Amino acid sequence: MFKRLIKTWLLTDIVSGFWLTFRYMTVRPKVTLNYPYEKAPLSHRFRGEHCLRRYENGEERCISCKLCEAVCPAQAITIEASPRADGSRRTTRYDLDMTKCIFCGLCEEACPVDAIVMGPNYEYSTETREELMYSKQKLLANGDRWEPVLVMRLEKDEPYR
Ligand code: SF4
Ligand code: SF4
Repeated sequence: MFKRLIKTWLLTDIVSGFWLTFRYMTVRPKVTLNYPYEKAPLSHRFRGEHCLRRYENGEERCISCKLCEAVCPAQAITIEASPRADGSRRTTRYDLDMTKCIFCGLCEEACPVDAIVMGPNYEYSTETREELMYSKQKLLANGDRWEPVLVMRLEKDEPYR
């Protein structure tokens, strides 16, 4: 009697397991994505790879106030600056160690001119550690690449700033 009960219980469990699998294979919507061909939507506040932005005339936004460097809790940012011939102050070095960054977003929040921002890109894995030591040129190139998306993200966030 007891054995028969166990057998029936096991059989019911197996059948219900198969039924559940069958339902997920056919009727239920997929919960997984076929990455990298399919990608999940991102929030406009997603904190991805950093970018340094320019003004429309191509001039760098960064005024080398060093607030981002001071606020960074991971000490990932290193800035050196000197005045130009026209008296404006610009960075001569802007390094960001991506291996130290904890993606807190404080650099972006501290920047008075929206120069350093965190973009939507999360596909920047590298084969070497050195490639994650970002220079000013790399950050500016990121800014040039993502500028239209960055503008859209900043506009969406404007009411909350
Ligand atoms: S996101 Fe945070 S940890 Fe990363 S560079 Fe900016 S302030 Fe530093
Ligand atoms: S990126 Fe912004 S906060 Fe950092 S030095 Fe430049 S202007 Fe200042």
